[in-house]
Amino acid sequence: MKKKINIQFLLIAILAIGFTVATTSMVFYELFKKEVMDSLKTYAHVIIDSDSYKNMENDKELSLRDELRITLIRPDGTVEFDTNADIGGMDNHSTRPEVEQAFKKGEGKAIRESKTMDKSTFYYAVQIDNGSVLRVAKEASSIYNIYRSSFPIIAVIAAILLVFCIILSHFLTKSLMRPIEMMADNMDRCSDISTYKELKPFLNTIQKQHEDIVKNAHMRQDFTANVSHELKTPLTSISGYSELIENGMADSEDVVRFAGEIHKSSNRLLSLINDIIRLSELDTTDRDVQYENVNLRITAQDCVEMLKLNAQKRKVSIKWEGEDAIVCANKQMMEELIYNLCDNAIRYNNENGTVTVSTYMDDNKSVVSVKDTGIGIPKEYQERIFERFYRVDKSRSKSTGGTGLGLAIVKHIVAQHKGAKIYVESEAGIGTEIKVVFDRKQM
Ligand code: ADP
Repeated sequence: MKKKINIQFLLIAILAIGFTVATTSMVFYELFKKEVMDSLKTYAHVIIDSDSYKNMENDKELSLRDELRITLIRPDGTVEFDTNADIGGMDNHSTRPEVEQAFKKGEGKAIRESKTMDKSTFYYAVQIDNGSVLRVAKEASSIYNIYRSSFPIIAVIAAILLVFCIILSHFLTKSLMRPIEMMADNMDRCSDISTYKELKPFLNTIQKQHEDIVKNAHMRQDFTANVSHELKTPLTSISGYSELIENGMADSEDVVRFAGEIHKSSNRLLSLINDIIRLSELDTTDRDVQYENVNLRITAQDCVEMLKLNAQKRKVSIKWEGEDAIVCANKQMMEELIYNLCDNAIRYNNENGTVTVSTYMDDNKSVVSVKDTGIGIPKEYQERIFERFYRVDKSRSKSTGGTGLGLAIVKHIVAQHKGAKIYVESEAGIGTEIKVVFDRKQM
C-alpha cells in the first residue's frame, strides 16, 4: 500500500510538472509573439507617419539595422519595393494572408514557419492612404526552437522538482500510514490511537474481532482445563476402585459395590465425552447443517414419552400441552434441545413436582416452553447457567448425572437457528420456565 501511494503521488507530481512546463511555455510563446507583432506594428506606423516609405533608401538602412524586411505592395498586388529581395523576381503578393487582410480590413498579421522549423517569420501589413500596403517582417525563433534551447534548463528544474517530490511523497506517505501501522502494532489499545475518522468503523470491527479472538482463546483454555478436571474425577474413582479389587482388598460384597461405583463413573465419563464431542461438533462452523420443517409438537411429545420413566423414578410427572408449532430447523438439534431442557426440569425438580412442555404459535412465532415446579435458579446465576461447566448446585448436578454442558449445547443450538431466542424465567423455590422462540419469517 505504501509503495502504491508513493507511486501515485509521484505520478501526480510528474503530471503536474509536465502540465506546468507545457502551459507556461505556451503562455510565454504567446506573449513573445504578441511582443514581436507589437514592435512590428510600431515600426510600420513609424515608417508611415514619417512618410519615409516614400524614400525607400532610408527604410533600407532602418531595416538593415533592425533586421527588418520592408515590402511595399501596390493595390494590384505587385511588389513596388522590398528591402531583401529583387522585386523583379517576386510574384503577386495579394494572396498572402496578411496582405489580403490589410487590403480588406486595413491591417493584417501572419506568422509563417521556415522550412527547417527553427525560425518563424512574423508579418505585419497595413494599408496606407494611396491604397498600397506596407508590410514589415521579422524573423524570430519558432516555438520548437525556443523549446529546444530552453530544454536543458527546463529538464534541470523538472529533475530538481521531481527529487523534491520524491522526498516529499516519501514523508507524506509515511505520515499517512503512521496511524494505520500504529493500529496494527497495538491491536489491544486501538481506541487510544488517534486515526482517520473514515477508518473508525473498520477499526471497531477489527477490534471487536480481535477481542472475540482473545475471548475465544481464553474460553478454549478454560474449557480444556475444565474438561481435564471433569474427566479426572471419574477416572480417579475408576482407577482407585479397580486397584482395590486387583489387590484383593475388597471382599465379595465390596466387589459388587466397587463395580457399581466403577459403572457409575464410566457412565459419567461417557456422558461427559458425548457432550464434549457434541459441543465441538456444534463449534465447527463449516458443517453442512440440514434444515427442514419440523413440528415441535411431535418432537416435544416424543421427548415426553421418552422421559416419562425417568420422571417417574424421581416422582415427577411430565406432560405435554399446546398445539402444532412448525419451525424450519435441524430435526436432531430440536430433539436435543427439548430433551436437555426436559432432562434438567426433571433433575432439578422436587418430589411430586411437575414438568410441562408446551408448544404453540405466538404472533407468527413458534414457541417451545419447558416449565417445572422445581428448585428454581436464583436471579444472580441465571445469566451464567449457559456457560460450559457452570452449575448452580454442583453436588445435585453431579449426583443426578449432569455434565454442566446441557444448557451450553442448548445455547449453541439456538444460536445456529437464525432469529431464535432463549428466555429464562425462574424463581428460587418456585420453579423455572425456559422458553425458546423461533422467528418463522427469518428461516
Ligand atoms: P447440568 O448438566 O449440570 O444440568 P446444564 O448446563 O444443563 O448442566 O445446566 C447448568 C446449571 O443450570 C445446572 O447445573 C443447574 O444448576 C441449573 N439449571 C438448569 N436447568 C435448571 C432447572 N430447570 N431448574 C433449576 N436449575 C437448573
